[in-house]
Amino acid sequence: MTTVVHDVVELEDRYQLATYKKMPIVVERGKDAWIYASDGRKYLDLYGGHAVAATGHCHPHVVAAIREQTEKLMFYSNLVYSETRARAAEKLLSVAPGRFSQVFFTNSGTESNENAMRMARLTTGRPNIITFSGGFHGRTADAISATFLGKYRDLGKPNVPGHLQAEFGGIETVRALADDTVAAIMLEPVQSMAGVRMAPPEFYKALRELSDERGIVLIYDEIQTGIGRTGEWFFAGSTAGNGVVPDILTLAKALGSGIPVGACLVTRDIAAHIRENDLGTTFGGGMIAMSAVRATIEAIEKDNMLENVAGVGKYLFKRLRELPDVVEVRGLGFLIGIEFSEPVGPLHQALLERQVITGTSGNSNVLRLLPPLCLKRQDVDLFLTELRAAASDLGR
Ligand code: PLP
Repeated sequence: MTTVVHDVVELEDRYQLATYKKMPIVVERGKDAWIYASDGRKYLDLYGGHAVAATGHCHPHVVAAIREQTEKLMFYSNLVYSETRARAAEKLLSVAPGRFSQVFFTNSGTESNENAMRMARLTTGRPNIITFSGGFHGRTADAISATFLGKYRDLGKPNVPGHLQAEFGGIETVRALADDTVAAIMLEPVQSMAGVRMAPPEFYKALRELSDERGIVLIYDEIQTGIGRTGEWFFAGSTAGNGVVPDILTLAKALGSGIPVGACLVTRDIAAHIRENDLGTTFGGGMIAMSAVRATIEAIEKDNMLENVAGVGKYLFKRLRELPDVVEVRGLGFLIGIEFSEPVGPLHQALLERQVITGTSGNSNVLRLLPPLCLKRQDVDLFLTELRAAASDLGR
């Protein structure tokens, strides 16, 4: 029997904590950059379920890999060896900058960041962590205490001590804090939730030099920017980031195409400080997640998605910048913040009514796009048509 849409909404609202302002869509299936709802409507998905659906919805290569693994073995922990895990680690490191030698698999972004900070403290023997105004790093105790965006940090009170706030892009503010109590400097190289904010390339270089000079571990939170979103595998090592590679790089979101999985990539120097039982996780490194990691990277390679992001991203940026009521378009590749001169809430809603899913951000004037890496030029054209129509619906 098919459940009617009304029942699903009512059931979920009745039994699930009301922690999200939900879009009134009952999703049923997805393909590429499209989501199909149970009422028969089809939505262009420019948000990817919080930047997760990087390979598009239900990429056949990823689906086949997960299915095959599920039939063999769904899970065993890190206490045993597994070819699936070995191959996933090898594949991930093969696309990462050469400085990284090892990986620790987790289940989420916040868990990756918790472990990254712990590794920095274990490596340096120091307690403090510098993070930045506008940065978001997760919702567990240490990660939320490292988050200086909006109200989040207060939600984590009493916060973990030893978190210091510097100004994103302001190297002097970092220098002033970076004494011999500081274990790590951690940043989102492009601050997504804050409205897609970037720093000038010199900033990343200055952070690298400062970290080297003062024996501090540099951590990039690439939970949004990693796995092809910027048009390169990572922000680390990219031109926009002045070629800088950190000591630890954290991942999640796109890494498993929707299967929950995260990772910390570390250099040989960091790995040398980590001993048996320093870190642990029950589910991290499980076989289904590992099959998804390898297949996700293979799918991006097979379908030339990095080239697609670079090409279609350039086109999208150019076309958006031509729009009259757009103040600024920021970001890289398929991590895009479109700033308007007024709050975007009504526009976001009008686009949804026109069957286009976009994202908002911590900056009420910024509409955020985090589409699947397979988004096509014709999808962009459709979006632009709907964007103009939505603006006109609002009398703009
Ligand atoms: N770091 C960044 C940059 C994020 O965008 C997020 C989630 O939005 C996180 C960390 C936390 O990831 P998760 O929700 O998987 O714990």
